[in-house]
Amino acid sequence: MQEFLKTLENTFNTIKINDEVSAKFEAAGFLKRYPKDTIIMEKIRESDMKLVSGICNTREKIAMALNTDVAGITQKIMDATNNPVPVTDYESLKDSFDVSKSADLTELPILTYYQRDGGPYITSGVVIAKDPETGVRNASIHRMLILGKDRLTARIVPRHLYTYHKRAEELDEPLELAIAIGMHPATLLATTTSVPINVDELEVANNFHQGKMKLIKCENVDLEVPECEILLEGRMLPHERAEEGPFVDLTDTYDVVRMEPVIELDKMHYRNDSIYHAIMPAGFEHKLLQGLPQEPRIFNAVQNTVPTVKNVALTEGGCCWLHAAISIQKQTQGDGKNVMMAALSAHPSLKHCIVVDEDIDIFDAEDIEYAVATRVKGDEDILIVPGARGSSLDPCAKPDSTTTKIGVDATKPLDKLDKFERVSFSD
Ligand code: MN
Repeated sequence: MQEFLKTLENTFNTIKINDEVSAKFEAAGFLKRYPKDTIIMEKIRESDMKLVSGICNTREKIAMALNTDVAGITQKIMDATNNPVPVTDYESLKDSFDVSKSADLTELPILTYYQRDGGPYITSGVVIAKDPETGVRNASIHRMLILGKDRLTARIVPRHLYTYHKRAEELDEPLELAIAIGMHPATLLATTTSVPINVDELEVANNFHQGKMKLIKCENVDLEVPECEILLEGRMLPHERAEEGPFVDLTDTYDVVRMEPVIELDKMHYRNDSIYHAIMPAGFEHKLLQGLPQEPRIFNAVQNTVPTVKNVALTEGGCCWLHAAISIQKQTQGDGKNVMMAALSAHPSLKHCIVVDEDIDIFDAEDIEYAVATRVKGDEDILIVPGARGSSLDPCAKPDSTTTKIGVDATKPLDKLDKFERVSFSD
């Protein structure tokens, strides 16, 4: 991560805070104040370790991590998930870390973000585990509440890690795992992609890294992890649950308390100069990491109906989850409506979507509003779909999780193109 951080500092604004900052609320206050900057905190009162946040809190930073530009991110994610690259390079644990000891989470600058939070949370931790039945590796990011110096509980949605744990539980066995904190944003992004259960997210990450990724073999568990700042080893216990939450989710609102699996740690590894990575809940780093990997699903579904789709963005204002802006090269009247229907069902959480022509920059909220202002006729261009399945995160959703979806066709009518043409200096 630190190599990337150096590159980042050359291009983007980095704020260094030298004064002592408390891990409880105070640090989060700074992160809230500078939502799009990279922040390094040199002195955290409760820990000897430095802290960084905002290494991938803008599309520009993520584009840099993926060696592309902002408009190219979705294609890059599609390419990596379709072409995972096996990892063959390994680095020894001894060469990767200076300190190896019994796990003690009180040494790390783990933040408590908001007043009603259930406690201090690790928010950038990637859990690596192997399927007890097939041996396929999984890497996924989970929020983890600290229960003690070597105990955590993690929010596990019913996907791959959940299935692995259930399979281990059926055998009355713990699920061995490793938790990696502080990695290159491309690796982090790979762990949030929705690949099938038989695909290893670390091989997706290796595609992002052009096949040059190295893994570190753990000491006590039979697992390999990406290069990281801090490595924790342990297991997810069978038949044991703890209260997880409350904690803030994507929509800047509190998620409910649930009973979630308990993790017990034994080993901890780090370097003398390791930096702890904190992701602000509901901050742009959280939103982009969770939302960007959903853009390819929408793109693919739209492309099936309108092959001239140009790009898709789950916009930051829509929490990178509830709103999509989609640009197309319109060829037939009605393309806009077909795009909306495909998009609203491709990503079930999508609530509102706006379709624009390719002269609109979907990464610019003002440009999107310009299209709505000048190209939308309310009685003709808006599609309302009540009673559709929506997002559990949508505060407007009914208890049965249905909501009303809206599509807005902000494309120019093909029979009056000259009336809608934007002035330009280039011709
Ligand atoms: Mn997986």
